[in-house]
Amino acid sequence: MKPTQPQEYLPACPLGSALRITKIETSIPHRVMPGLLLMRITTEDGTVGFGETYYGPTAAAALIHDWMSDRLLGADALSIESHWRFFYERFGNFGIGGAEMRAISAVDLALWDILGKVTGQPIYRLLGGPVRSKVDIYNSCGNPGYGANPTGRVLWPGYGSQGKPGALEDSYQLFHDPAGLAHELLAEGQQGVKVWAFDELAHRHGGMRLPLDELKKAVRPLEILRETAGDALDIMVDGHGFFMLPAARQIAEVLAPIKPLWLEDILKIDNVSTLADFRHHAGLPISASEMLLTRPQYLEALQKNAADYVMVDPTWCGGISESIKICQLAQGFNVPSTTHDCTGPLTLFAGIHINAAIPGCCYQETVRAHIRSFYNELIDELPEIRSGQVSLPTRPGLGVAVDERCFDRDQPHYRVSTL
Ligand SMILES: [Mg+2]
Repeated sequence: MKPTQPQEYLPACPLGSALRITKIETSIPHRVMPGLLLMRITTEDGTVGFGETYYGPTAAAALIHDWMSDRLLGADALSIESHWRFFYERFGNFGIGGAEMRAISAVDLALWDILGKVTGQPIYRLLGGPVRSKVDIYNSCGNPGYGANPTGRVLWPGYGSQGKPGALEDSYQLFHDPAGLAHELLAEGQQGVKVWAFDELAHRHGGMRLPLDELKKAVRPLEILRETAGDALDIMVDGHGFFMLPAARQIAEVLAPIKPLWLEDILKIDNVSTLADFRHHAGLPISASEMLLTRPQYLEALQKNAADYVMVDPTWCGGISESIKICQLAQGFNVPSTTHDCTGPLTLFAGIHINAAIPGCCYQETVRAHIRSFYNELIDELPEIRSGQVSLPTRPGLGVAVDERCFDRDQPHYRVSTL
């Protein structure tokens, strides 16, 4: 009897034959969106896959080039699950969250993009879709300066300015002309609007207890939104994780009359049992949220009945590979999934593919202030959005290419690793 060969666990080229990775590039579009890391993986046959992640871009780039490239270069680009699990388990030895998971996410997007191009199919088809012909979207009230910053300074999450008067300054308009904003969104067929109306209260008072007079003032624009739009707009409220339990309950109490579709990160999410208690007492739907990473964290939120919706950010929580598993997991609990944006154009495209492929997905976040002001400097084709829905991409892979100029070798943070 022939002795069996010991089999390597999670080999980089499981089938021997492989579409080998020959080049890995990363770049930061520092004049357009300085918190964004763009990546491009090239294979030996010239196929190119694009990926991205957001926040801490130099840290994610360091992990990719100084460490992950050691496995990826010369490895099979199509062994997506093998690479994902290998990196997850190795990084798990010292804590899996943060830059490590963002780096895995960026690589995962690029590998799915390559698989789509090699097979000639949009990613949602490779995931078993489509399950719908268009994806419902809502608009988050940012402004062009929330994310894009020509000074190269990356703002803290939840510390964006209100903006200024002008087109696409949705955050400014929310606070200064909420009725006008409601009319404008309805006129273009938007289905929903997300607001972060309480950030400044947290900046002024911390997140433990809120003065009633200021709380009433802060909720007034949302009351006007509801009065103006009637029942025609979903309203979602994001607290950016600023508040502890008593303040979160105060906010839920003043929000109840406007019937928000969900409350998102009003309460810090670092204790799921407290979130479940908040959900029970608030009596309002809770979205638990892009601040969670990977299946175990979402599973805990689902098992403890802490969420009415789950939201995933494909470029934070482990790429397309992990996002689809989280959404399928949520479907098993009869909890719908939604996908996060505000973090980059490929994140948006990845979310569209996920929504197109998973029956339990119900909403894609968009930021019209980003899509219509600077995304065209980053990608070659904008998503086709009409009447509150986005069309499914038709090109193979992600269905979009990063602008060639973003990978100019003269960019200050451009890095390349080659076989
Ligand atoms: Mg959020």
